[in-house]
Amino acid sequence: MSSIDHLFSKNQQWADKIREQDPDFFEQLSKQQSPEYLWIGCSDSRVPANQLLGLAPGEVFVHRNIANQVVHTDLNCLSVMQYAIEVLKVKHVIVCGHYGCGGVIASMDDEPRGLIDNWLRHLKDVYRFHKDKVDAVTDQNKKFNLMCELNVIEQVANVANSSIVKKAWSNGQELTVHGFVYNLKDGILKDMEVSVDGK
Ligand SMILES: [Zn+2]
Repeated sequence: MSSIDHLFSKNQQWADKIREQDPDFFEQLSKQQSPEYLWIGCSDSRVPANQLLGLAPGEVFVHRNIANQVVHTDLNCLSVMQYAIEVLKVKHVIVCGHYGCGGVIASMDDEPRGLIDNWLRHLKDVYRFHKDKVDAVTDQNKKFNLMCELNVIEQVANVANSSIVKKAWSNGQELTVHGFVYNLKDGILKDMEVSVDGK
């Protein structure tokens, strides 16, 4: 049986290292959080929000699901958005996809996978909206990459069209929604340049 004991020793080392640099770090952070960013990303273990942004605990509020979906009836995602925007008053919402996303790739075939097929339907909708553009690409990898990008663009639109963001904008709240795609091969984020701020 494999042990998870090493996780506790790793955790201890991590906390010790942070305290070495800033003895009051955890004490201060335990009192409040005031992140400027809400990250809506993929659950993929290779795309950890804080680490790839170089941000410390307390600096980014995070929601992750398979293929970074923003579904208008997903109470989990909507609740995260509401809390981040209305209570924490984040200034930026970042939807971040990544090339090589297993969810996106799986949505492009008709193989039955059980429960997850219902979630992947949302990606099939993205494909349906952009069918001509996607079908015009013959290289399979390029097709998947394009779908990853189009998916991010669609999810940015879903964030921007949510009642939560619309309300924030109508109240004059400063809030920008961005779409990024992360490259697993070099660790670099690409800005899809679809940022919207309600103005
Ligand atoms: Zn993914």
